[in-house]
Amino acid sequence: MLYKSKILLIYTGGTIGMRKDFDTGALKAFNFSKLLLQIPELKQLDCQIETISFEKPIDSSNMNPEKWAKIATIIEDNYASFDGFVVLHGSDTMSYSASALSFMLENLAKPVIFTGSQLPIGDLRTDAKENLITAIQIASLRENDMPVISEVCLYFEYKLYRGNRTTKINAEHFKAFTSPNYSFLVESGVHLKLNSDLFLPLHKDQKLKVHKKLNNNVAIIKMFPGVSEAVLSAIFNIANLKGIVLETYGAGNAPTEEWFLNLLKQSISNGLHIVNVTQCSGGSVNMGQYETSTGMKELGVISGKDITTEAAITKLMYLLSQEIEAKDFKTIFETSLRGEMI
Ligand code: ASP
Repeated sequence: MLYKSKILLIYTGGTIGMRKDFDTGALKAFNFSKLLLQIPELKQLDCQIETISFEKPIDSSNMNPEKWAKIATIIEDNYASFDGFVVLHGSDTMSYSASALSFMLENLAKPVIFTGSQLPIGDLRTDAKENLITAIQIASLRENDMPVISEVCLYFEYKLYRGNRTTKINAEHFKAFTSPNYSFLVESGVHLKLNSDLFLPLHKDQKLKVHKKLNNNVAIIKMFPGVSEAVLSAIFNIANLKGIVLETYGAGNAPTEEWFLNLLKQSISNGLHIVNVTQCSGGSVNMGQYETSTGMKELGVISGKDITTEAAITKLMYLLSQEIEAKDFKTIFETSLRGEMI
């Protein structure tokens, strides 16, 4: 008999399952079982689907590390019994969650695909059905008795992306995400076109390791011309702060003013980890290319290379929760752990 993949659908919330509150006009999460009634087409899929839902579905603006741990625990508890996982999630913070889960699930050997939609599933013009149905189809793909995809991905508007390479770019268009520095893994047209060369290799014989603790003593700072010493030094000196993602200009450039470099120097010698990422949506940090980044390079600022801010902040939270010696932190951060950077 033909093998049927078993897929676990994990509902966390988001527009996909929301309904209009007619008193306020705002969209609110509603009951998951009702969501499934909206998609009888799921029965036609050639796989077995089971569902599990957050007790209280959330708008993804309320997502946080505890809830990421909840998703990771659901996957861990059901890992042996399912061939793949589809996580229904609001689009607003989906790239952060997909990035976080990619670090939390070490040695992943099955697909975990995040998806959601811009319009509720009950809406006439909804994008939810295509996103959900194709995400499930891709999660159930197998070859030689093995899953075809074995990483954390994000599926939206006909494209499957590596989750930790994505960023939300549009609050209006159905094409809400892009992956500026890494091409899509699968394109859905008349056929599913797989870019197999870009997939992460399968961790066949390694056991899944789930890291549920993240350290959120971190901050993101976006540089802008005119940012003052008072503002930066107030942030850099927050008690117990362990890491900063510093969004700089272009190829990783920032002011060469003495106060700025001194602040970095002092903070680094106090044990703060500073990661340089670019504000540009595409391209890479390359400290040393311009004079405006050589100072940072010499001080030991970590290069985020072509990582997204979403992946940088979640990787920082993950690595800070591991027992890593201070002298090794920079090298480990600059190494691609889940395909998140070059
Ligand atoms: N505000 C919603 C959320 O992120 C938007 C969406 O689902 O697309 O939960």
